[in-house]
Amino acid sequence: MVTVNYDSVKKAYGDTIAIEDVNLHVDDGEFAILLGPSGCGKTTTLRCLAGLTQPTDGTITLDGHDVTDVHPKNRNIAMVFQNFALYPHMTVRENIGYPLKVAGKSKDEREERIDEVAEMLEIPELLDRDIANLSGGQQQRVALGRAIIRRPAVFLMDEPLANLDAKLKISMRSRIKVLQREMDITTMYVTHDQEEAMSLGDKLIIMDKGHIQQIGSPDEVYHQPANQFVAGFIGSPSMNFVTVRRDGDRIRADDAPDTFDVELDSEVADRYRDHETFTLGVRPQYFEVHTERTDNAIEAAVEVTEPQGDEQIIEVEVGDQPVSLTVVAPSAIDAERGDTVWLTLDDDLVHGFDTDSGRRIV
Ligand code: ATP
Repeated sequence: MVTVNYDSVKKAYGDTIAIEDVNLHVDDGEFAILLGPSGCGKTTTLRCLAGLTQPTDGTITLDGHDVTDVHPKNRNIAMVFQNFALYPHMTVRENIGYPLKVAGKSKDEREERIDEVAEMLEIPELLDRDIANLSGGQQQRVALGRAIIRRPAVFLMDEPLANLDAKLKISMRSRIKVLQREMDITTMYVTHDQEEAMSLGDKLIIMDKGHIQQIGSPDEVYHQPANQFVAGFIGSPSMNFVTVRRDGDRIRADDAPDTFDVELDSEVADRYRDHETFTLGVRPQYFEVHTERTDNAIEAAVEVTEPQGDEQIIEVEVGDQPVSLTVVAPSAIDAERGDTVWLTLDDDLVHGFDTDSGRRIV
């Protein structure tokens, strides 16, 4: 059993607060992902657990034992970095076996474990090669091998796929997922790539400006974002936000009240009964694009179309102010810059956010 707990953890560098009020729990065997934009504090959060950064305040426990002041070597944690951090003058075998050598394990035991790990990562044929002439993907597998050979209590990874090309990234992603499941090791993984996070994690910890914004499953953060930041950060293309005013069952955009004027289903409108003005959040996929005038639709001018194979992303403008929206439509819809289209929205799926605090209200 290895659980991880952060209790009110803070790290400040002089006046810069890297992370603050970080409270989180990772269950035994869970795959937790720290996700957020550059500089939000993901790496700092991970390094505090590894013992590479000393928190200014707060407590970190492993299985209930306070490790906040424990030396990194005594935490039984393994970390994989973006730049692999392998020893260039050693072979693959020596790199993978290094942690066991330092731990004083016998040659026989080392060789047995190296073979086991190499099998797991499907790299037995690379064992006697030099590090220098391996590809990026091969080097990353060696780095993983070196991290797991000690059977650490917790596995930490900081953007381990960032230096790989797109195709390799996807195949390494599945390999890491399988490995984590097979070894059943509590894992914390840092990335700024939401697609990677959604596909890997049991639990997503979404951060912005040093603070946790939401902790939830990939499904929860996508469908029930806690606030406007999470809603805008998760999902591609990003969610559209429009400040609106509600009048009975109708909602009108502040900047285009004559054009962006939609009647909601009365059951849906009822969810907003306590709110007269708010920020409407609509994912680009929740609009339907029509090329002919349609009931209860928003008239829009096509600005840009981006073909994506079966689908296309269309940027449109609504009204004179204007309100810019991004919509996703089947590629069969015939739309070009300068065309007029009509948008209906799936009102059951849209969200409402408090315009001042950003908190989700619907
Ligand atoms: P990235 O995705 O770009 O790696 P991150 O989310 O991992 O970013 P951190 O590296 O944790 O973010 O940094 C959080 C904040 O703390 C940033 O403002 C950063 O500039 C600051 N910071 C991090 N390390 C130090 C340091 N050693 N000295 C001063 N400031 C630091």
